[in-house]
Amino acid sequence: MPNKIVLLTIIGLIATIGIFLIDLNTPRGVALGVVYLGMIFVGLIIKHRVVVIAFAFIATALVFAGYFFSPTSIDVTTALINLGLTLFIIWLAALMLIFHLVQEQKFTAKLAELANHDALTNLHNRHYFNQELSKEVAKSRRYKIQLSLLMIDIDHFKKVNDTYGHPVGDQVLKSLADICRTVLRDVDIIVRFGGEEFIVILPSTNISGALLTAERIRAGVEEFDFTYEDTSLKATVSIGATSYDNNDWTDKDLIKAADIALYQAKKNGRNQVCEFDEEKTQFRMAMAEEA
Ligand code: GH3
Ligand code: MG
Ligand code: MG
Repeated sequence: MPNKIVLLTIIGLIATIGIFLIDLNTPRGVALGVVYLGMIFVGLIIKHRVVVIAFAFIATALVFAGYFFSPTSIDVTTALINLGLTLFIIWLAALMLIFHLVQEQKFTAKLAELANHDALTNLHNRHYFNQELSKEVAKSRRYKIQLSLLMIDIDHFKKVNDTYGHPVGDQVLKSLADICRTVLRDVDIIVRFGGEEFIVILPSTNISGALLTAERIRAGVEEFDFTYEDTSLKATVSIGATSYDNNDWTDKDLIKAADIALYQAKKNGRNQVCEFDEEKTQFRMAMAEEA
């Protein structure tokens, strides 16, 4: 809210000038400079480190000006002690506020990261996926560029857990995330969609590009040795691929299409990539029935 920041900064500056004028008309012995602290707190309200520092400097300059231009009524030593204490308090408060703002910023960033990431694989999560898919679909529609989606599911993962234990299952999930990372481009968005399901958004990619990427992931997983401590095991994935061809699909249609293609891959025997076939699945009809 830049307007609020500007408004509060202006109010702070006006108040600072007011305090300075009062300071000029009160004797040196009255430590009015401490009131400048209020202005520094403006920086805290608008959560702006630069404003805190700026007000601390302005306050310092005005405290000095007040010292020289206020009517003299006390001895120099007492006045200097007042000056020193005032500046000390102003800068102590400013530094504490800056420290607080930095900590708060780090905390907010951490919270945002937690809200968007999956703790096990460190991939983005479903919450992030929903936001990004809407953006990508809107972009594709607007600029008439293609967009593809892959839905990846580990085959017989329950058996992996049952045979080797949950920690080994977790390790497989982490390794799968790593394999996907090595295959994908920086612009691709991979998320852990659910338990052992992953989704990849492939911007500016048509269905043949998507099938190629999916096949690389499938083959990468098939070749990978998922060794964990002394346990060596193999795993495979099934992948459903679909493409957004500038039609009127919504985000949900795209996910549904990838899901149908994945189901097909499972049905055909797993460890394979299947492309969504609109005609075969009568997708439009299915969507209409659901609605
Ligand atoms: P299919 O080939 O049909 O996909 O069979 P599947 O066994 O992989 O499918 P199912 O959906 O029946 O099982 C998914 C399993 O994934 C069940 C659940 O225990 C496991 N799972 C989900 N999340 C996690 C997780 O975070 N860690 C581990 N280790 N397992 C998980
Ligand atoms: Mg599953
Ligand atoms: Mg599975």
